[in-house]
Amino acid sequence: MAVDLHLHSNISDGEDTPERVMELAAEANLSHAALTDHDTVDGIDRARLAAERSGIAFIPGVELSVDHDGTKIHMLVYCLEPGEGPLQSRLAGLRYGRDARNTQIVHNLNRLGYEITIGDVEKHAAGPSIGRPHIADALIDKGYIESRDEAFTDLLRDGGAAYVERDRLTAADAISLARESHAVPVVAHPVTMCLARDGYGRVFRELTDIGLGGIEAHHPMHDRELRTHITGLAKSLGIAATGGSDYHGSTKRSYRVGTGTGDLRVPESSVESLFAQRSMTGSD
Ligand code: AMP
Ligand code: FE
Ligand code: FE
Ligand code: ZN
Repeated sequence: MAVDLHLHSNISDGEDTPERVMELAAEANLSHAALTDHDTVDGIDRARLAAERSGIAFIPGVELSVDHDGTKIHMLVYCLEPGEGPLQSRLAGLRYGRDARNTQIVHNLNRLGYEITIGDVEKHAAGPSIGRPHIADALIDKGYIESRDEAFTDLLRDGGAAYVERDRLTAADAISLARESHAVPVVAHPVTMCLARDGYGRVFRELTDIGLGGIEAHHPMHDRELRTHITGLAKSLGIAATGGSDYHGSTKRSYRVGTGTGDLRVPESSVESLFAQRSMTGSD
């Protein structure tokens, strides 16, 4: 059977409830599914219950934005349980950084003539992790733009007219916090690191030496050749090759649960190699 280890709900910037996301995973005939909202585990308990009802094996997760020598990397962290823990207690601080930055972005938008408030932005968020996609929703609501994509091609893109940087963990800190929390850190969609094909090996070797447990090989943004290349690289490093659709909702982005843009298929064996990494996490 296939699996999907990268799913977002409306607890961060997805469109569907955690329950609905797991329903879609069941409809896609998946054996395993992971919820990986940005900077929050608040959807985990609800998603787990819904997955259990549908007979799907559930993996709790989170997606972080980190910095590695000036390169932005998204880091998925798996088997992270809600509650107390070193990484868990950092999440609130990361969300505080988001809130401060959202205020600055709204301020920039006001200066550029877009009349929106933080209240307008918050209306579009069902959970505690608010970000640029919700700011885009507020701009759509007010009729300034048509889609989230439009916001990300101009105003809100990295370096765009209203963009503001936010505080990020370093990759090294995220990896050690994850391991100390008995969870497995995995680099998400490496294609967004904008490296040449021969650049991945060095970076992933460096990160594996400090505890990286996997690389997301199967992602809708990766062509077939990159999926194969990353799978081989992970294998040679002795870490997991994972994958998922990065589903954010059926109308706001075009990826589907389980299948991405149609050709995604994440093998169940990726879960076994992920779980093998779990036993290499910090001591109990
Ligand atoms: P933030 O976390 O606030 O910096 O916003 C970045 C998030 O926006 C990413 O993690 C994606 O989930 C989302 N995103 C990036 N590009 C787009 C896009 N073109 N359309 C919709 N959402 C996007
Ligand atoms: Fe997102
Ligand atoms: Fe991401
Ligand atoms: Zn994601």
